[in-house]
Amino acid sequence: MLHDIHPHAFSNAYLPREAAPTDIVFHFDGTRVYLRAGRFPVRSDYPASARLQYLFDYDGAAVFLSDVPPTGSTPQPLRALRALDQASAFVSGTAQHLWDWYRKTRFCGACGAAMAHSRTERAMVCSACGNTVYPRISPAVIMLITSGEKILLARGQNFVGNFYSLIAGYLEIGESLEQAACREALEETGLHIRSLRYFGNQPWPFTDTQMVGFFAEADEAEPLRIQREELVDARWFTRETMPETPAGISIASAMIAAWHEGFKP
Ligand SMILES: [Zn+2]
Repeated sequence: MLHDIHPHAFSNAYLPREAAPTDIVFHFDGTRVYLRAGRFPVRSDYPASARLQYLFDYDGAAVFLSDVPPTGSTPQPLRALRALDQASAFVSGTAQHLWDWYRKTRFCGACGAAMAHSRTERAMVCSACGNTVYPRISPAVIMLITSGEKILLARGQNFVGNFYSLIAGYLEIGESLEQAACREALEETGLHIRSLRYFGNQPWPFTDTQMVGFFAEADEAEPLRIQREELVDARWFTRETMPETPAGISIASAMIAAWHEGFKP
């Protein structure tokens, strides 16, 4: 899954410091990111006057944000990050997550005064009332639903491409992960799922999400009622009739691959 980047090493200890010339520095611009051919931009690609914000450590180097773009680079859409090799997608996606959170946390939600970076932890602190805000991580559940040897797959309204994936949704206030899984499955497909078994979980920084995966069972005889606001289609497939499914780094692809190989959590 995305965060499994061994032998690379990610550290989220908060150790702000001066950037060395070879430290990685990202610049995001609305819906775009600046990359150099075949590598991430580093400190020496930026003007000396660039204002930098420390993010985290990766392979022993510090990673920063810059307020200005690097020289000699071309902007690409943010989606380009997901097509990088897994470790690079994870590092740049986590940087994007923090960039998006910092830009949305400039003012205090309680009193409206300017926020400032904490010196001791990855947090923003209100200069007037002391309100402390931490990076937003939104928990979500994703379910691999089976009935006998069949799997339920769905095509979301917002999917890019023609593939099918698993049912998923965000936690709402006051519910457990399992309750969220049952509610989402019922809302989106009309199915009453049971026998939930934990599979694993994964940070998905591109959308500030923590995905928590469950295997679950349902009855194929129960009629499908597809929630059209969310899904284009949902149906049962066998291993022999599988449609195109998401490739690579997501927990959805890991769960589908595990099911395909007969894995039972
Ligand atoms: Zn405040």
